[in-house]
Amino acid sequence: MARLYNFSAGPATLPEEVLNQVRDELLDYDGTGMSIMESSHRGKPYAAVHAEAVANYSKLLGLGDDYAVLFLAGGATGQFAMLPMNFLGAGQTADYVNSGAWAGKAIKEAKTVGQVNVAADTSTDSPTRMPAHDELKLTDDAAYLHICSNETISGAQLKTFPQSTAPLIVDMSSDILSRPVDYSQFSMIYAGAQKNLGPAGVALVVIRKELAETGNQKIPSIFRYSNQIANDSLVNTPPTFSIYIMSLVSRWLLKEGPENVYARNVEKAGWLYESIDADDFYTGAAQLDCRSDMNVTFTTPSAELDAMMIAEAGEAGFSGLKGHRSVGGLRASIYNAMPAEGVKALADFMVDFRQRKG
Ligand code: PMP
Repeated sequence: MARLYNFSAGPATLPEEVLNQVRDELLDYDGTGMSIMESSHRGKPYAAVHAEAVANYSKLLGLGDDYAVLFLAGGATGQFAMLPMNFLGAGQTADYVNSGAWAGKAIKEAKTVGQVNVAADTSTDSPTRMPAHDELKLTDDAAYLHICSNETISGAQLKTFPQSTAPLIVDMSSDILSRPVDYSQFSMIYAGAQKNLGPAGVALVVIRKELAETGNQKIPSIFRYSNQIANDSLVNTPPTFSIYIMSLVSRWLLKEGPENVYARNVEKAGWLYESIDADDFYTGAAQLDCRSDMNVTFTTPSAELDAMMIAEAGEAGFSGLKGHRSVGGLRASIYNAMPAEGVKALADFMVDFRQRKG
């Protein structure tokens, strides 16, 4: 069986050794005589998996006891809704940075709940970019400041985070645990799992317990962060199989060493940007200082050549390079689990394509 190099933005490639372990344990998890998928969420085997996932992500993110680690169904989009339901009360305003499609969706959801101030808007800028810290027009006493650290579609990444007196809340779906970050500057972060953490449908949510306590108590119990914390994400039956895979990915990250993963990410992105910058055949979509190390977005000189490149790349074993349907062009998503040799091979393919078509 040949595995393709899968450059899809998400669901995305997972570490091969994780997939092998999932296969090996599928029918009989750790001598229990059943799959972990079939195992009670209140039973000992699953409780150990869940506890390990919480402990490992807490360790990887360098968190103290003042933070809770949650695994919540509904993906990152669920968090777009749950966040304002908890923290955007009547008469309050939340600051949101509109840096692109994903930040825009978060804003749309928040507006269904309460008052939103768009602190900066770079969503239609070309080249794509993140606003500089001094561009933000913040509200006094904002309920919180929400930003997206990496716009998966546009390929723009926020390199440093703004200071904020309001709780800083970040959608890190497409770059969590991909680079060294001091996570203690955030009151809350969340990430859909399907890029750097595991299967789709679940979000990793990290939240200051103190903040969670301030949340609206008059919303349904499943949506209350404080209730999810009190129940260790087990208010109802959680997505146990997905959390199990997230625990295996956390083990893999600890074994690889986050600093090695980070260094590899910079190197991988560097190869692709080098191919883009070699001459004027390719155009990078993002402003130079905002180029994402996770989603490398670019175009060739024409839409026809874009399509030709995607087709030829597909035949050469590189899948998922088509840019998002809303922007076109090409996008190579190179999350933690994308092997360096796959990225190197793509960079070489780009050089070859340019030499043939340029
Ligand atoms: N935020 C970002 C930055 C994303 O890239 C995505 C998914 N591509 C989402 C939110 C939405 O995630 P989900 O599909 O898990 O709801």
